[in-house]
Amino acid sequence: MSNCVYKIETPNGLYVGSCKSLKRRKQSHKNFINKKDYKIYRNNIDFTKYIFSVLEENIEDPLELRKREQHFIDELKPPLNSRAAHSTLTHKEYMKEYLTRRFNCDCGATPLTQNRARHFRSKKHETKIEEIKKIFQV
Ligand SMILES: [Zn+2]
Repeated sequence: MSNCVYKIETPNGLYVGSCKSLKRRKQSHKNFINKKDYKIYRNNIDFTKYIFSVLEENIEDPLELRKREQHFIDELKPPLNSRAAHSTLTHKEYMKEYLTRRFNCDCGATPLTQNRARHFRSKKHETKIEEIKKIFQV
């Protein structure tokens, strides 16, 4: 079984996902839960309450796979999915958004996110940070 869209019905609601290899994805879910930090939860999880099923399979094109996943997310509105599988932003829109995004630096400036590294090396940033350090005596 490969390139499929699947759903997991859990006691906490539905989850929809897609994968290249269902076997591998099942394994990665298992590995995740087997991690030390989750052992405490694992013992409290009743795996019989988790129902894994395939919604669609053998979707060759990876983009189509994402689209089909998004289709089921839109249709089923699974509460456990936190992000969109296939972003509705086009590449152009995304780049525009990315190129104009700014961040709030500790020095008080709001430089473009893409210039973050350059900003950190700038004299202006250094001077401001030194001032702030003096003010707060850190
Ligand atoms: Zn700065």
